[in-house]
Amino acid sequence: MQASDTDAPQWPMIIGGKKVEAQSGKRFDIINPATGLAYCSVPEGDAADIDIAVDAAKKGFDIWSKMSALQRASILMKAADILQERLADFVDAEVLQTGRPIREMRAQLARTPEWYSYFASVARTYESKVHPFGGDHVNYGRRLALGVVGLVTPWNHPLLILTKKLAPALAAGNAVVVKPSEVAPITPLMLADVFSEAGLPEGVYNVVTGFGAGAGAALTAHRDIAKIDLTGGTETGRKVAALAGERLIPFSGELGGKASVIVFDDVSVDRAAAATLFASFVAAGQTCVQGARLLVHESIHDAVLEKLIARANALVVGAPDDESTQMGPVVSDRQLATVEKYVAIGKDEGARLVAGGERLSGEGRDGGYFYAPTIFADVSNDMRIAQEEIFGPVVCVMKFSTEAEAVALANGTDFGLAASVWSSNIARAKRVAEDIEAGIVWINDHHRIDPSSPWGGFKDSGIGKENGIVCYEGYTRMQSIVLNTSEEPFDWFAEDGKQKRYS
Ligand code: NAD
Repeated sequence: MQASDTDAPQWPMIIGGKKVEAQSGKRFDIINPATGLAYCSVPEGDAADIDIAVDAAKKGFDIWSKMSALQRASILMKAADILQERLADFVDAEVLQTGRPIREMRAQLARTPEWYSYFASVARTYESKVHPFGGDHVNYGRRLALGVVGLVTPWNHPLLILTKKLAPALAAGNAVVVKPSEVAPITPLMLADVFSEAGLPEGVYNVVTGFGAGAGAALTAHRDIAKIDLTGGTETGRKVAALAGERLIPFSGELGGKASVIVFDDVSVDRAAAATLFASFVAAGQTCVQGARLLVHESIHDAVLEKLIARANALVVGAPDDESTQMGPVVSDRQLATVEKYVAIGKDEGARLVAGGERLSGEGRDGGYFYAPTIFADVSNDMRIAQEEIFGPVVCVMKFSTEAEAVALANGTDFGLAASVWSSNIARAKRVAEDIEAGIVWINDHHRIDPSSPWGGFKDSGIGKENGIVCYEGYTRMQSIVLNTSEEPFDWFAEDGKQKRYS
């Protein structure tokens, strides 16, 4: 049975402020990962819908980009307030579509309104620069909105990741066409009512639901898109960046990761285990900054491993809407198959499976995509499980003896999104953090985020930054105005014997 054939909610998509169906009339189902059952459906947008959405966004851009920063900021502040009032509805929708536990989604979503208020403040307070051009010239830079921006987002943090892109894009005066993940598009659709009530002009926020190869590819190839901002896998990032390169438009990509949690010998076993548990198993390991690799000093390795196994085995894995659940299912049968594939690879490679390594069923888990928190010990850095992104509840444990070895291990992957360093010796922790080739390094913490704090990867983990002033600027283009204030006549070709300057 398909949700699209039943009384289950049939969500429309949002184009030009209207709730619409796909031109093709097609729909597809959204599955609850905790049950494996379809519970609603969305339109299957494609190139025809993207064309209409981009046209609507161009009209929205004409209005929005001409509003003052104060007007835009006040609408974003209103949106932040409305979102705050409706958080409970958004939390419920995120739990249903991602399978992430309600306590996790409450904590994460509680912070999303901050992005709108932060970037509203940036728009209000952003100061252009006057450059030291010299002489009688005044040179200033103007930050202008780019136009219609394409936002392509994943399923693991559907509202937060969209918000990280949307708040700066709107604050800077852009209109957007969003292509949310086909796995979890509901909260991006729900956001349309928030913006409409906040007074955002029609056409500024458009959402076309559909698949990557259809709506996603059409959006990223569209001739009138001024920038593409994608969060997704590294291979998707390469394809989309190549399209942006052909058209010479900016591309920002928040891509895959394989973060290390580096634990030195001056950290207590309890703290090390708690840190790894959170870094590795929050969101059932489906975060781009997942602590997928635990690098632990050899002198405390066995004790930390023993504690970690005990705590992982005790995690409550179950229905995401149950307040006592600590870890939910993975998001899809596809993701589950990937986890199973890598666990088999790890065993074949000779890593020692010390916890988990199996699907979980029973006790309300039947039909859902539940997998036990899984730990591999005796992992070497050249194993595929240590190198490739699994994106599930699997952690690889390795030991090191020297600081240099820890740094070499942490840097020994193609990814470079994030890492964390745990030590009470702050000089050492800072030294190690600064030697790590990753865009974000936490010291004595993991996975902390703030709208002001730049976020983005090095190496195969992406290009560009989310959050902070740097992100706001990335949603603008700069025009340099050079004003000559001198009335002095200038005649380059006059043969008057005067010293001339033209550069
Ligand atoms: P994905 O790459 O499969 O899909 C991401 C989005 O891109 C989806 O909306 C999808 O429909 C679209 N897409 C797919 N192919 C496309 C194409 N050819 N053209 C245009 N759009 C296309 O990723 P996912 O499975 O949804 O998300 C998981 C991935 O996202 C992981 O690799 C994870 O590390 C990464 N991620 C990174 C960050 C970060 O901040 N760096 C955050 C979250 C997730």
